[in-house]
Amino acid sequence: MEQRISLIGLDRGALKAALLNAGVPDKSAAMRVSQLWNWIYVHGARDFASMTNLARDFRELLEQSFTLARPEIITAQVSEDGTRKWLLRTGPGIEFETVYIPESDRGTLCVSSQVGCTLTCRFCHTGTQKLVRNLNPDEILGQLLIAKDALEDWPSTAPGRKVTNIVMMGMGEPLYNFDNVKAALGTVMDGDALALSKRRVTLSTAGVVPMIPRAGGEIGSSLAISLHAVRDDIRDVIVPINKKYPIAELMEACRTYPGASNARRITFEYVMLKGVNDSLADARALVKLVAGIPAKINLIPFNAWPGAPYECSDWSQIEKFAEIVNRAGYASPVRTPRGRDIMAACGQLKSESVKERASARMAAAQSGQLARMPH
Ligand code: SAH
Repeated sequence: MEQRISLIGLDRGALKAALLNAGVPDKSAAMRVSQLWNWIYVHGARDFASMTNLARDFRELLEQSFTLARPEIITAQVSEDGTRKWLLRTGPGIEFETVYIPESDRGTLCVSSQVGCTLTCRFCHTGTQKLVRNLNPDEILGQLLIAKDALEDWPSTAPGRKVTNIVMMGMGEPLYNFDNVKAALGTVMDGDALALSKRRVTLSTAGVVPMIPRAGGEIGSSLAISLHAVRDDIRDVIVPINKKYPIAELMEACRTYPGASNARRITFEYVMLKGVNDSLADARALVKLVAGIPAKINLIPFNAWPGAPYECSDWSQIEKFAEIVNRAGYASPVRTPRGRDIMAACGQLKSESVKERASARMAAAQSGQLARMPH
């Protein structure tokens, strides 16, 4: 059983505390934090031995107390369109996916915030998997490190880097795991760490309204809303969290989102479901609904999964829908489905993890298996 703790995912304060605890003298702790921060997040160091500018005895001390372990890679797949998907694992039943989407002008990493999801959106595959648990900051950041290792995308500050954007659009609802997502994104957006600007980091929510102002104030990333319907009766069915926080309240939270402006628009995601939400009247209502909000509208062709209860709208219908939105002055790119052949497209992510029965969890806890994974 590994006794050393991983430094991945600790913020600067926690990193300093860990160093002091391991016997690093107080007077050098701040400098040591900066050096390690740079090695881990700018250079992607995977072991202490490679930190060649640090004294050998300090490296040995680190080696005895800590690791830089990443999640374990269960599978790594590459789609015919170049999209990549990794299935990762950090403990018994703790499996989650991350997806890299290369485009001509950017490379976007789609990151998971939970194993499974509680939201049960009717069209989403992840929603058919029960929540196993929230991911910790090291597990969220670990997804970036794995992708950057595989893409040989170090140092983080290099021009022409491959991971240029992060979207919290993988498995789970990030605003139901606020503290861990905030901690991880803090390191992502730290100019001395992964160094992605807040414009390049997007948090997507199905509409946890009370947390939206906090996301704006405390995280400060860009915001995307999984809207998908313009009427409460339809949204109640396809995005059930709407019964708790209906459309009007959601729109009000967007109207007052800190930091939204014409230069930093809120993205509204709208999955095109044949005969459900894709009428031209819906398109006109959508334009009215977002009036007054600096908005982009992202139309997402529905991606099928085994047993899905919906079909994708016809292409001609999507075009007519997009035309109305465009004419109202909103950019409305239709999101090209990526990685469908490896089940990596929007809404297709799902791991085989199943929620452990309480009895199994108790037994595991007693045998110490569920202590915070020191990988
Ligand atoms: N829970 C957050 C983060 C997940 S983002 C949220 O809902 O925003 C994943 C995005 O893919 C969401 O916009 C979701 O609604 C969309 N999606 C889910 N299933 C889909 C499917 N089968 N086809 C296309 N998009 C889907």
